[in-house]
Amino acid sequence: MTIVERPPETKPVTFDHAALVDRLRDTFAAGTTRPLEWRRLQLEAMRKLLVEREAELLEALAADLGKPSIEGWMTELRHVTNEIGDMLRHLDKWAASEVVGVRALLRPARARIIPEPLGVALVIAPWNYPVHLLLLPMAYALAAGNAVVGKPSEVSAATSAALAKWVPKYLDRDAVAIVEGDADVVTSLLGQRWDHIFYTGNGVVGRIVMEAAVKNLTPVTLELGGKSPVVVDRGANIEVAAKRIAWGKLINAGQTCVAPDYVLVDREIEPRFVDALVEAVKSFYGDEPKDSPDFPRIINARHWDRLMALIDGRKSARVVLGGTGDRATKYLAPTILRGVSWDEPIMAEEIFGPILPVIPVDSVDDAIAAINAHDKPLALYVFAEDQEVIDRVVAQTSSGGVGANVTLLHLAVPGLPFGGVGNSGMGAYHGKSGFDTFSHRKAFLQRPTKFDPPVTYPPYSSIKRRILRKFF
Ligand code: NAD
Repeated sequence: MTIVERPPETKPVTFDHAALVDRLRDTFAAGTTRPLEWRRLQLEAMRKLLVEREAELLEALAADLGKPSIEGWMTELRHVTNEIGDMLRHLDKWAASEVVGVRALLRPARARIIPEPLGVALVIAPWNYPVHLLLLPMAYALAAGNAVVGKPSEVSAATSAALAKWVPKYLDRDAVAIVEGDADVVTSLLGQRWDHIFYTGNGVVGRIVMEAAVKNLTPVTLELGGKSPVVVDRGANIEVAAKRIAWGKLINAGQTCVAPDYVLVDREIEPRFVDALVEAVKSFYGDEPKDSPDFPRIINARHWDRLMALIDGRKSARVVLGGTGDRATKYLAPTILRGVSWDEPIMAEEIFGPILPVIPVDSVDDAIAAINAHDKPLALYVFAEDQEVIDRVVAQTSSGGVGANVTLLHLAVPGLPFGGVGNSGMGAYHGKSGFDTFSHRKAFLQRPTKFDPPVTYPPYSSIKRRILRKFF
């Protein structure tokens, strides 16, 4: 999935992002954002925004993505308010300094790790979960005591406008800002000095972000994507596996960074598994998914064309369900492809749409080898009843996260860090990982002066040398 959205025309634009960053930096320097009380107020304000402006935000999500309101509520608004609740519950503990043991020779002394905010953070979000992926990282930046600028995706224009309208009305304008705009705006923002840049989106822009960050040695978190595989063992519960895979694939019409991208299923059960997948999709959306109020749309015509080209450009793969769509309404039918081989165009890039290729394999070990021959994915799913199979897949592969007999839901556990590895990203958030991402863990050691043993000072007599060798 390597579309980099750019506006057709190049506009001669100038932005005063330097003044914005200066203003936020002044607020940070004045200490406004540090007290836990201020952080709590901001988190509560964000939660209030999500509750009070629910209808408008859900409307915007429906306008951008045809997102069913319950889906938008669950995966965007509620997800963020749940995590804000978790932040509020744990803030005292996360922000408290951590006592660390001191070796005998340094005693008496107190050693601590003191979490401190970084300064002014930039959060750049994509269009697929445009509320969640903007506000959640911003919430962690605030929880950690930073000022923050959020840049929603211009591709999900209605949601971007709603966030730009409401965030300044609820949150502290001297410390929090939303900047709308396209790639030119991001380029200008990236020209400023930030204390952390948190980017979610595709790897092409991820590289642009990282290059820009180098200039000021700004730490970056890159939440990227990739092809997240599913392994289905021959002993798996086929019906449940099919339902959970179809659900994770088709929520948001497959436009989810951790959506199952393709399935590696044991050849022995492949026919039964494909039948069960078809059944699952029909049970969710009926025989005409385009009439279902629960099935979303593709974000725009460019992505619709890209996805259709993946279906039309297939070589030996067969369409067993779907394969059709309507460009005008950006509907693309839930599509299952069978007999897919690795040289199909659909296997060359992240799909990011409601198309599920199914590839038969001879064994779990073959599936592991195939996964390891490709980039490290953001998520990996394994469906098996045999714990040994699950353990083997987990131990012998590398991915941002793993779900065993589930898809997507590892994201809903705030205690689990969410992030990629290798080409699927770097850094993580959710729970304490989110707080730590926007904090510096400062080392602190204090010793009293009343007692000042001479052993570490020269001249190093033989007795001192013996003591140092024994205790240092
Ligand atoms: P997108 O097109 O909205 O781009 C993301 C952001 O980058 C936007 O704010 C956009 O303005 C900016 N941008 C786009 N082109 C730019 C350029 N040339 N220079 C500077 N900035 C630019 O979203 P997308 O990248 O299409 O998002 C989909 C991708 O994101 C998928 O690969 C998906 O897997 C990944 N993703 C990852 C996560 C995660 O949490 N790891 C979540 C969602 C999506």
